Amino acid sequence: MTSTLATAVRQTKRQMTFHCCDACERVLSIEEIIERHCERCNALTRPTEVREAA
Ligand SMILES: [Zn+2]
Repeated sequence: MTSTLATAVRQTKRQMTFHCCDACERVLSIEEIIERHCERCNALTRPTEVREAA
């Protein structure tokens, strides 16, 4: 499953496994992910398509 997921991630670069801010369209840092908000626009982040391997 891991290899399949990795391939999917490579093909769909817009939907990565990490968090992104919909407003800023940028990748959030670890701290922002933990805080669950974007430091730039202060918007709440949506944990969508998050499939981190434990
Ligand atoms: Zn933002």
